[in-house]
Amino acid sequence: MEHNLYIYNTLSRSKEQFIPLHNDRVGMYVCGPTVYSDVHLGNCRTFISFDVIYRYLIYLGYKVRYVRNITDAGHLEGDRDEGDDKFAKKAKLEQLEPMEIVQKYTVGFHEILSIFNTLPPSIEPTATGHISEQIEIVKQILDSGYGYEKAGTIYFDVEKYNKDFQYGILTNRKLEDLLEGTRELGGQDEKKGRLDFALWIKAKPETLMQWPSPWGWGFPGWHLECSAMSSKYLGKTFDIHGGGMDLQATHHTNEIAQSQACHHAAPVKYWMHTNMLTVNGVRMSKSAGNGFLPKELFTGSHPLLERGYSPMTVRFFMAQSHYRSTLDFSNEALQASEKGFSRLMEGYARLQKLNASAASSIETAGLRTKCEEAMNDDFNTPIVIAHLFDSLRAINLVHDGKETISTADLAELKAVYSAFIEDVLGLKSETEASAGSEAFKKAIDLLLNMRLEAKQNKDWATSDKIRNELTALGFEIKDTKDGFEWKI
Ligand code: AMP
Ligand code: ZN
Repeated sequence: MEHNLYIYNTLSRSKEQFIPLHNDRVGMYVCGPTVYSDVHLGNCRTFISFDVIYRYLIYLGYKVRYVRNITDAGHLEGDRDEGDDKFAKKAKLEQLEPMEIVQKYTVGFHEILSIFNTLPPSIEPTATGHISEQIEIVKQILDSGYGYEKAGTIYFDVEKYNKDFQYGILTNRKLEDLLEGTRELGGQDEKKGRLDFALWIKAKPETLMQWPSPWGWGFPGWHLECSAMSSKYLGKTFDIHGGGMDLQATHHTNEIAQSQACHHAAPVKYWMHTNMLTVNGVRMSKSAGNGFLPKELFTGSHPLLERGYSPMTVRFFMAQSHYRSTLDFSNEALQASEKGFSRLMEGYARLQKLNASAASSIETAGLRTKCEEAMNDDFNTPIVIAHLFDSLRAINLVHDGKETISTADLAELKAVYSAFIEDVLGLKSETEASAGSEAFKKAIDLLLNMRLEAKQNKDWATSDKIRNELTALGFEIKDTKDGFEWKI
């Protein structure tokens, strides 16, 4: 099935017409979170961007199989096989089982994404659920001659691979340049080449998560899971692979090498990368300490925030920039988005109440085409929003009785608004949230759980703030021995 959809492909560094491999079916894989801590707003930007992409592919009529993994093993602190296992470290810190860490943060991740109104993927596989598939890939890479064993650890031989394929194809870098940017091997290193990376890592006796393999007890390297799970559910070659830009140079580059060495085919037709969310120009990340959590954003409980912003304001703020542009977070920008979002939703509500006339005195018919053209141009959501804003003028003129709209035009305008605001951009009205709505209940529970946490940490300022502000909004909050109860 062919549309006029053009996607910027990182691999070719150009916009290419999107032609799926299998007619009307699309396979899309997006690297999911490493569930050893709460997702920050930067992570959310990437997942919300791919949610819009997923939604638009569905709008176009494709049957999309969207696979987004959960990394619950094998991610060491350094992206290049160094440091402790992120889960084991956190498990020790919080005195929990690694799988308790995984469960806790997976649940939190799902909660946040549902508050942001993202659709769940079709399949959400975990690394620990696919150990045998990963071992199988390592075996095949060894059979193809691109891997080698050193004392129970299996490495990928980058220099050998590069003789047959271009290792740095995704970022358009030559091996010599990549080598220059990498540190020399230390005396302790078992690796042959500086760029070689571990496919399978030998466990130490104290390693908390380890599995048996033909090479002894160990655990998979981080990059391996995505090669294993994408090929299992989408085939050796599939349509779209996505993730944040920070994953291009190492994670995705290694994924391509592994998949090519194992399956003798390039794994992905269109590589898509989202740009970073920044704070005062600095990439938001856990390590930079500027990674505030969505919860903090909703309540305003972070020093960088002047006050809280609603989930849909944040989603709208993100849609106002193109996914390949950096998006800088600021209170002013969010306040402007808040105003813009409520203006749009007021117009949408007004549209529902308009009366039709026999004929239209105003032009509204081209709106769908304009919005589709914007989305077809590499998912240009800010342009879609600009078109929707333009048409607010028409809605207001009809509302004020200065212009008329025919029954057919009104029906189409309503259909376009609902398709692009709700189905494609994934926005929904927040004023309609009633005490009966599931998301609303979850959001209040989330806030009150944060209050409990704050109390446990003797952070009385936060705990009082949440209680006072909710009370001011008309909520009745009761502390009970199991936690809390609330009603409005
Ligand atoms: P992680 O949990 O660190 O593996 O990251 C999950 C996803 O979030 C990956 O696709 C990252 O590229 C993406 N990501 C991390 N930081 C940011 C950021 N500041 N802005 C946008 N995406 C990000
Ligand atoms: Zn991945």
